[in-house]
Amino acid sequence: MTNFAAPRKSLGQNFLQDPNIINKIVAGLGIKASDTVVEIGPGRGALTELIIGQAGHTHLIEFDRDLIEYWNQRAETINNLTVHGVDVMQFDLQDIIKTSDTKIKVIGNLPYNISSPVLFHLMHYAEFIEHQVVMLQKEVVERMASESGNKQYGRLSVMLQQRYQIENLFKVPPTAFFPPPKVDSAIARLTPLLDIPHPVSDQSDFEKIVKQAFSMRRKTLRNTLKGALGSEQIESLGINPSARAETLNVADFAALSNIYSEIKQTD
Ligand code: SAM
Repeated sequence: MTNFAAPRKSLGQNFLQDPNIINKIVAGLGIKASDTVVEIGPGRGALTELIIGQAGHTHLIEFDRDLIEYWNQRAETINNLTVHGVDVMQFDLQDIIKTSDTKIKVIGNLPYNISSPVLFHLMHYAEFIEHQVVMLQKEVVERMASESGNKQYGRLSVMLQQRYQIENLFKVPPTAFFPPPKVDSAIARLTPLLDIPHPVSDQSDFEKIVKQAFSMRRKTLRNTLKGALGSEQIESLGINPSARAETLNVADFAALSNIYSEIKQTD
């Protein structure tokens, strides 16, 4: 048996130990023998052992130096396993994508302190990804999957739903981990949309408009979008400037972003 170092809190190390939950999470990715699978943060291998047995090739991205050493040793005898000992936020997934004939599948029980940045990092590669199955804090998954008009609906919901179909698969209690985290977790499956129904002409403008609109939830669009769009421009899209961001859908935000990009160019 391997003697692992104590779990590192700074790296969000809560290791899965419930075999039923582990099976359900991996099943959520629907791995085929021809698949290239990327696991972010394999830790001690709770998910990894199953993935390696099912996938054509498995890539691990791990930041903990002891775990990198452990996985490098394992990779010496497993020929369909590649280890990338780096911070996922610094890693260019193209290095893996270019080696794969098919779209890749991504899985990760993500450290909660960097879960949103990791999701936005992965978004850059959405066209090369078939599915992503991620474990996150339950509230974050609820926000991601929430529809307009709900309390949890916000910036994360709009930014992700413009690009992905999002499914809140199931909850995971703290008892499924060692050590148990203080919060409930949930599994989300993100499937990049093939024909994006509400395309945006400039991704950073979209980010800016959505962020600004939700910056003060109780204020109207007329107020929050001041400096970017005037009431007349908002109205020209059939959107009420007195409405609040939480009542708008993804199509509305895409329209606001696109008119903003257009105006910026003619200014
Ligand atoms: N997959 C394992 C499991 O389910 O038991 C471990 C999950 S644990 C919540 C998160 C894992 O991500 C740890 O192995 C940790 O070392 C790793 N990690 C933390 N920050 C990371 C980063 N920036 N880049 C890559 N891996 C990271």
